Amino acid sequence: MRTLLLLAALFGAATATATTATAQERAMPPTEPTGPKWSLAIHGGAGTLTRDDMTPEREAEYRAALQAALDAGAKVLADGGAALDAVQAVILRLEDDPKFNAGRGAVFTWDGGHELDASIMDGRDRAAGAIAGVTGVRHPILLARKVMEESPHVMLAGRGAEEFAAEHEIETMPPEWFGTDARREALERVKTEQVSALDVDIKFGTVGAVALDQTGNLAAGTSTGGMTGKRWSRIGDAPVIGAGTYADNRVCAVSATGWGEYFIRVGVAKAICDRGLLAGEDMQTASDTVMAEVKELGGDGGVIVVAPGGDAVFSFNTSGMYRGRATSGGVNEVAIYAGE
Ligand code: ASP
Repeated sequence: MRTLLLLAALFGAATATATTATAQERAMPPTEPTGPKWSLAIHGGAGTLTRDDMTPEREAEYRAALQAALDAGAKVLADGGAALDAVQAVILRLEDDPKFNAGRGAVFTWDGGHELDASIMDGRDRAAGAIAGVTGVRHPILLARKVMEESPHVMLAGRGAEEFAAEHEIETMPPEWFGTDARREALERVKTEQVSALDVDIKFGTVGAVALDQTGNLAAGTSTGGMTGKRWSRIGDAPVIGAGTYADNRVCAVSATGWGEYFIRVGVAKAICDRGLLAGEDMQTASDTVMAEVKELGGDGGVIVVAPGGDAVFSFNTSGMYRGRATSGGVNEVAIYAGE
């Protein structure tokens, strides 16, 4: 009986406290800041990027290109558009820019061609589309989206993916469209000096975007030419769902850039989301932990992440990453070097 009375007293006190608190909350403006309505993060590759390697003109060109891509995606989100469309808008711009290793400006394969990889994912239902080892497609991200939306599959590769592209009237370009002198020189060095792709690809120029739209949906996308001098139909992490790209409305959207083999082995994008979902880690902690794992194995690169609450996070273990982020809350920044 005494126990019951005690419980009743405690319960009553707790209820009273809760009731009082609720009344106060109703009377006062919220003290917790609410997250931004939309959020966007983009990257144009990570790597050995130091101020000494850059002329001021070159640096300005990269910053302007990143800003233009960021603006294109931010406009979609500010106008109430879908996260998937914002991701696509960013990547379309970067794929056409020869400064980045995706679409036009893609690195050369050993045989002097271009094999393009891309993927896109919708956080609403985890629908995904990916293409690997495709030649001649101007915008690999559009082909990945077609695979997601108009095929029963997630990933198509090589000739089959090109047939699918032709059936869906995806735009193609001649080989000259993709190549640049700098990329050709990089291939020559790989061949004549017998150095590895990492020695010539001092930066990874893959492009990617992650977005949260005003209805709370997340999306992620990544597009790349891979690594200089790749052979034997090598495929990196960019088109591998769970490695280079992942989106799940419950927890995060991730796009990666870096030494793809390591990102595949660690399952980077999914590992970050899982840490958030299962261990409740915030996205910065989850991303830093997973990138440290990549480093420990010998890999390098970086990720961009957007969380359902609107946080836009970068994490990279290189000296720089071309990157940018914007939110409805007024964040609007592009950066290149670590510590900016
Ligand atoms: N992750 C890409 C790959 O391994 C390269 C990059 O990020 O630039 O194919």
